[in-house]
Amino acid sequence: MNEHDLIIIGGGPAGLTAGLYAARSRLDVLLLEKLMPGGQAVTTSLVENYPGFQEGISGPDLMARIEQQARRFGLDIEIAQVERVVLEDGRKKIVADDREYVAKALIVASGAQPRLLDVPGEKELKGRGVSYCATCDGAFFRGKEVAVVGGGDSAVEEAVYLTKFAEKVFIIHRRDQLRAAKMVQERALQHDRVEVLWDNVVTRINGEQQVRSVDVKNVKTGQESRLDVAGVFMYVGVTPHTDFFDFPIDRDDGGFLVTDPDMQTSAEGIYAAGDVRSKPFRQIVNATGEGAVAAYAAEKYLENSAP
Ligand code: NAP
Repeated sequence: MNEHDLIIIGGGPAGLTAGLYAARSRLDVLLLEKLMPGGQAVTTSLVENYPGFQEGISGPDLMARIEQQARRFGLDIEIAQVERVVLEDGRKKIVADDREYVAKALIVASGAQPRLLDVPGEKELKGRGVSYCATCDGAFFRGKEVAVVGGGDSAVEEAVYLTKFAEKVFIIHRRDQLRAAKMVQERALQHDRVEVLWDNVVTRINGEQQVRSVDVKNVKTGQESRLDVAGVFMYVGVTPHTDFFDFPIDRDDGGFLVTDPDMQTSAEGIYAAGDVRSKPFRQIVNATGEGAVAAYAAEKYLENSAP
């Protein structure tokens, strides 16, 4: 049995920063990460709003730096996918890859994953033109026409990024206003190879071996049309990774974990930080801040009232 004072689930910006703070406080801490540290941030081509990097920095580079910084303070990272979290006399038992871990305190920084659009053709053509990561797949579309679905920061930023490769990028958005930050919007709207299809939703993705086109419908006029594209990048929001709890824990309507300002969830000694947390604004910079707060709160809990 693997026993620790503190276990952190997730190695994105929030989890790694919580680990950095906890290791620097000399806590007995272990971070569990399912694949490789970095989280969703590694799928971001350019991060230009993380302070300290005036020219911007790529998501993978930023996350590698944060990981190395945390390891320098002695943070242990184990690759294991958490399947279940159970409460036993106030202790937190974690089952991951058929191994068992026990912790007095837990920080959940398991992040979120891209939401599916849930239209015909999406699942069938995933990896064959349907993508959720422009940084990973953009280069396959050199000289081709592609569509991006959504109007948030991810959709609009990645649409501009895709112009590095694609001849033309359509943003398909269900409203007549983008949600993305104004400067990001300006870049897309002023780009001569980006075109926004306002008030349109995707109704079907077509293709046999590869995406050939998408069917769209104007939600105001009802007019249906077909767009010949070789790729469709989905950026219609995110859903949290929280399916491992074996007990009730407060969540919001979207399933994100509700916390107090100290990142304490409704379960004693369990903290949440980063994208998995219920909040209006999901950024790397506040994820790291929340990771630090959660580590501090967990440390106080371990000193005063842990089982
Ligand atoms: P988001 O901000 O939730 O935006 C999702 C977009 O998808 C919205 O424009 C939404 O339309 C649209 N949408 C949702 N469901 C849809 C559906 N069924 N059909 C068609 N369109 C649909 O998600 P995100 O862009 O992935 O970003 C997630 C979080 O990370 C946000 O908090 C974002 O600010 C943050 N982020 C920040 C940066 C940055 O600061 N550099 C970069 C990336 C992401 P409506 O607008 O009509 O709701």
